Amino acid sequence: MCAIVGIYGNDNAARLASIALFAMQHRGQEATGISSSCDGKIYTKKDRGLVSEVFNEEALSYLKGDMAIGHNRYATAGRDSVLDAQPIYAKYKLGEISIVHNGNLINKDEVRQDLIDKGAIFQTGMDTENLIHLIAKNTKDHLKDRIVEALNRTIGAYCFIVQSRSKQFVIRDRYGIRPLSLGKLKSGGYIVASETCAFDLVGAEFIRDVRPGEMLILGESDEPESIQLFEPEFRPCAFEYVYFARPDSVIDGKNVYTTRENMGKALAKNDVNSKIKFDMVVPVPDSGVPAALGYSAQSGVPFKYGIIRNHYIGRTFIEPTQEMRNLKVKMKLSPMGSIIQGKTLLVIDDSIVRGTTSKRIVRMLKEAGAKEVHFRVASPEIKFPCFYGIDTPTKEELISTQMTKDEVCKYIEADSLEYLSIDDLVGAIGEDRHYALESFDGDYFVKA
Ligand code: 5GP
Ligand code: MG
Repeated sequence: MCAIVGIYGNDNAARLASIALFAMQHRGQEATGISSSCDGKIYTKKDRGLVSEVFNEEALSYLKGDMAIGHNRYATAGRDSVLDAQPIYAKYKLGEISIVHNGNLINKDEVRQDLIDKGAIFQTGMDTENLIHLIAKNTKDHLKDRIVEALNRTIGAYCFIVQSRSKQFVIRDRYGIRPLSLGKLKSGGYIVASETCAFDLVGAEFIRDVRPGEMLILGESDEPESIQLFEPEFRPCAFEYVYFARPDSVIDGKNVYTTRENMGKALAKNDVNSKIKFDMVVPVPDSGVPAALGYSAQSGVPFKYGIIRNHYIGRTFIEPTQEMRNLKVKMKLSPMGSIIQGKTLLVIDDSIVRGTTSKRIVRMLKEAGAKEVHFRVASPEIKFPCFYGIDTPTKEELISTQMTKDEVCKYIEADSLEYLSIDDLVGAIGEDRHYALESFDGDYFVKA
């Protein structure tokens, strides 16, 4: 998960980075940070909290310079969040560097142990720190060569931006699992960001996506210099389209909103022979809205806001205990009694992970007077934990590894339950390429 941004060649670098991070707040709300470079020095400010809380005027005026990198961290229960905020900064033989990272390195433990055996001292629990050590211990004279050698020992899903005192190195793994795009700022310079929704807010024009296996260097010449480091084997993450990205982003040429609408249409097509007469399509806000609109457009069943969301509550998903998750779902979502009274509802959410949200919602809608609640999920059953950067829980916590579809239907107390098939998911995003689908099909294709 997480969001990263790089701004190069703009006197307002840190401010623009903070605006971009604000636009990508949905990718991580636990901690945020920015490093700027100015006159041969790197300045870093990072803290727990939201972008709007951490980056006040004082913080931004400290972050001088015409280049900056930034990060939003996604909360994962049980880790030390202050220490694990990014960017990670270090002084080493060639000067100073700072790094931001989105993704997950699958050979991190092995590399870390090897580094520790050779005397390295680690300060954080993050796999990103491996890269710093690999760069620092290398003996090449140029940072670029050190980064390349460090990457040769790095396997996994990653987007990195490494900032030195005068350059930025942007790298996307050879599978392109996590998204990363390049844009040109109208006020001068360049931006690299996890999602294109950041471009609109900072006033940038989309140039292109960073290619899988590519390194971009900003600072060597006027234009970003491109080096193809690794043979590409493109497999972007399907879950970005299902849930994670903002609907107005375009990821690798595909508008996220449109793919979600297609997912809803596919669900509706699978229901054409259903004997049930649905009175309305109700989305679970916000993540189920585009798919519900697609379902409604395809089927002709009217779309209604049967559930209202309170926006002043954080994400329920990462609360550490089941009791807290239950309470939070209740505080977050409320039924529209007058609309759903006596009606047969077709309720759509983007995914079922543990089953907490869906179970609460069905019960809540029935208590509020719904006659029947039919649940539809705009993704396939999640049966495998993701090791490529999405924070799905352990296998034991995933409801679909523990129960069949019928058992889940009973457990969430729905009148019927249907998921999107893997084929329909691929069809909704586009059949022109392969995707990372490991949460659904268990194909862990990134091999150490
Ligand atoms: P469940 O309650 O079944 O554990 O999770 C399903 C709900 O959590 C859905 O409403 C979905 O939108 C949301 N969700 C699915 N995956 C993630 C994730 O990785 N992070 C967060 N914050 N929410 C998620
Ligand atoms: Mg949701």
